Amino acid sequence: MKRISLVKTAHDLIKNILHPGDITIDATVGNGHDTLFLAEQVAPSGHVFGFDIQQAAIDATLEKLRQTHISECLTLIQASHAIMDAKIPADLHGNIRAIMFNLGYLPGGDKSVITQTDSTLKALNIAAKILAVEGVITLLAYPGHPDGDLETDQVKNWCEQLNNKQFEVHTIYSTEHKDTAPRLFVVNRIS
Ligand code: SAH
Repeated sequence: MKRISLVKTAHDLIKNILHPGDITIDATVGNGHDTLFLAEQVAPSGHVFGFDIQQAAIDATLEKLRQTHISECLTLIQASHAIMDAKIPADLHGNIRAIMFNLGYLPGGDKSVITQTDSTLKALNIAAKILAVEGVITLLAYPGHPDGDLETDQVKNWCEQLNNKQFEVHTIYSTEHKDTAPRLFVVNRIS
């Protein structure tokens, strides 16, 4: 079976939605891959707010973006995504076109620092509130490692309790539908 990159799938979906000038959030900056992608879509007049609790992730991403002309589209915030509404100007709430999550640990970094179910769910509740109509939340989850199972289950439950008049949810699997396969949750705000 062909292996699909869920990171690429998320980018392809978001590309269809974003325009220059849009406001976006990378809720888990990590190595900055999604951050850079978002900045490229919304430059020069749009913005990306990137959150990570680790200095190492913020530093690596700043370095990556320094070499581009799009760093002025970016605000990196070393704080938990569980408080992202407090860190983003109130007049932008309701205008966020895309919010990306990539759960788990920082590749090549400290594997003991992983996203935690509690803060992930808090962040998702905030994300659903500040998302624009016709905006999208993408969330890449990794069951099959300790704690990732529980977190993925809780995210799935969270998706299921959303008001289906307001949100449409799709789940995309990287390989055959296995319990341990990484999966991408795509939450579209439809009204
Ligand atoms: N698993 C992915 C990468 C995930 S990176 C892959 O394999 O490519 C996840 C990032 O989330 C890490 O850099 C980590 O520091 C960050 N993170 C963990 N908890 C967080 C929180 N509460 N708020 C914001 N970022 C958090």
